[in-house]
Amino acid sequence: MKNVGENLCVPKFEEYFNLIKNLLHQRVNFRVPRAFVRTYGCQQNVSDSEKINGMLLAMGCEFAQSCEDADIIVFNTCAVRENAEDRVFGNVGALKVLKKKNPGLIIALCGCMTEQAHIVERLQQSFPFVDLIFGTNSLEKFPQLIYKILTEKKHIWSSKAECDAYGADANFGGNQINESLPIERASKIKAFLPIMYGCDNFCSYCVVPHVRGREKSRSAQAICNEFSQLIGSGYKEITLLGQNVNSYGKNLDERIDFAQLLRSLDSVSGDYWLRFMTSHPKDVTPKLINVMASGKHICHHLHLPFQSGSDRVLKLMNRGYTRQGYLEVISYVKAKMPDICLTSDVIVGFPGERYEDFCETLSLIKEVGFTSLFTFIYSKRSGTPAAEMDDSISEKEKFAWFRELLEVQNEITTRQCQKYDGEIVKVLIEGKSTKEGALTARTQGNMIVDVVGEEDLVGKFAMVKVTGIKNWFLTGEITEVL
Ligand code: SAH
Ligand code: SF4
Repeated sequence: MKNVGENLCVPKFEEYFNLIKNLLHQRVNFRVPRAFVRTYGCQQNVSDSEKINGMLLAMGCEFAQSCEDADIIVFNTCAVRENAEDRVFGNVGALKVLKKKNPGLIIALCGCMTEQAHIVERLQQSFPFVDLIFGTNSLEKFPQLIYKILTEKKHIWSSKAECDAYGADANFGGNQINESLPIERASKIKAFLPIMYGCDNFCSYCVVPHVRGREKSRSAQAICNEFSQLIGSGYKEITLLGQNVNSYGKNLDERIDFAQLLRSLDSVSGDYWLRFMTSHPKDVTPKLINVMASGKHICHHLHLPFQSGSDRVLKLMNRGYTRQGYLEVISYVKAKMPDICLTSDVIVGFPGERYEDFCETLSLIKEVGFTSLFTFIYSKRSGTPAAEMDDSISEKEKFAWFRELLEVQNEITTRQCQKYDGEIVKVLIEGKSTKEGALTARTQGNMIVDVVGEEDLVGKFAMVKVTGIKNWFLTGEITEVL
């Protein structure tokens, strides 16, 4: 037991699991309690949900197939765009009938939405049946909060937003990273490995720094240990995660940067691929590209969001680089790795963007030749500087630009796919495809290849001859299983 804030003797993090196990068991009439976690948004949320799942298993739960079948429901939410938030509001609303049928059901919300005071207030007003809210920086509070629900039987709201609105302690922005959370990974083949949390960049449109707090890097030792464990237990692909992986290490006492971290992970022996995301163009260094080019396991895939091809818009976005600067990075990358696959994120309809600016975006994507592009229409996020900027472009116009962009990129993607026609490429076979008898695989450039094969090939590397192109993915025949 240890003493915390409220001067009460409370159990330590790990001790909650056994206490909860018994209480939950009783609550569901001595059968195994069932939990259901739904994840919205990015890979960071997927990774957080793996920790929530790990904690739920430690509480003695098994996993339900749907909300209808669950005793505990957790929605891990996303706030990056308005439509993501709208989906959560709709889906939480639908839980009301379940709670009415089963008052013992525990409903919890976490993730980026719960870090905004105005959203928490709206959630409280609209959905009083929600039992528990916790923020992105208080995952380790989850067992403690569940315990409170089970013992005190009251609603609990714990997040940065609540901290602002109601004066609670949410531990937001603290420098501690809890390394002892159990993890239940979604895949036995591919793993996400967070190397840092939060973001310090404050792009003017983006809510992430406001909801996830300041940049915090994990220690290199903790990352290397987890990495070696994953390789040792047979994982074939590890993706290092962070909002801006290139600024890894900046807040650590040890002197290490992302390129050094990547090089030391790459030196771990084994049969695996190593990826990372997301990189920020302003922080990509020649050193990093050289490590990528000379690495043994590092995939020749770079996801490098450019957001806009116009210097004027990039400045308004506070991105910290110019079109020319971005293109110079791309030239260096292509020179060092001629087989590189480039992907990116772009925003259409940023406040004040003109058609001339949008044309600069079109010309940039033509010049670079991305294999795929994640395209977003600008979404106003309350509390960000862009939300205060004059936005005179109509939604209709934004949609027209968006469609034009998709058309141009679709052609580029098809051309990029055609380059592989007839080639033999190495792939990792990831799972069953939606097509009967087919498996889905990925190249190191992250391109999807559908192949015919038995399920026992899942998790293996193979050589594949590309035999066809279907819009944005490849089809092929396995020539050799590695
Ligand atoms: N940290 C990463 C990704 C952050 S969010 C990066 O900086 O690249 C993922 C993507 O969502 C962003 O790259 C951006 O293209 C998009 N995005 C973020 N905020 C947005 C907003 N307000 N409206 C539309 N798209 C947005
Ligand atoms: Fe958002 Fe910019 Fe940070 Fe990415 S780098 S998370 S877009 S603020």
